[in-house]
Parts: sequence; structure tokens; C-alpha cells
Amino acid sequence: MTHAPEPGIPGDLSVFETSCAYCGARFRVLVVQAAPGSASQSYACPECGKSYRTQAAAAPHVQLLRRRSDGRIDQYQDTMF
Ligand SMILES: [Zn+2]
Repeated sequence: MTHAPEPGIPGDLSVFETSCAYCGARFRVLVVQAAPGSASQSYACPECGKSYRTQAAAAPHVQLLRRRSDGRIDQYQDTMF
């Protein structure tokens, strides 16, 4: 059974899983679909705090699925260097 991603209907809840590009943690993101062209919302990796953006009608909810895999304990810093 294939499960192709479908374009969201505004107001519908959309769920996707992603891995943090910085620390490797895996988490699930729940977003309320926004109408096309609406502003994006930010959400943060639950392990390192790195922020991401996605188009959503409200602030996304994040559930940690797997701890970070990089062995570090630092928080992601946007302005570190
Ligand atoms: Zn992270």
C-alpha cells in the first residue's frame, strides 16, 4: 500500500516525521495546514533546539521519536561563528 503525500487542505492536521540536520534526532511534527501563500511557522528540534520553518496555520507541535545520535550535548547555535 502506497502512502503518497497529498496537498493539505487548510485547517487539516498534517503530520510528518523528520530528522534534525544538526544532531540527528528524529521527531514528528504536527501542523495545521495553512492556505497557500500564508506565513510560515517555526518549530524547534526537541533535542538541540535548532529551528526549522514550515508553512502552517499555527505553531507546529513536535514529538521526539528518537534521541539525538551525534553524541554531543550542546544546543544548536545560529550565531556561534
Ligand atoms: Zn537537533
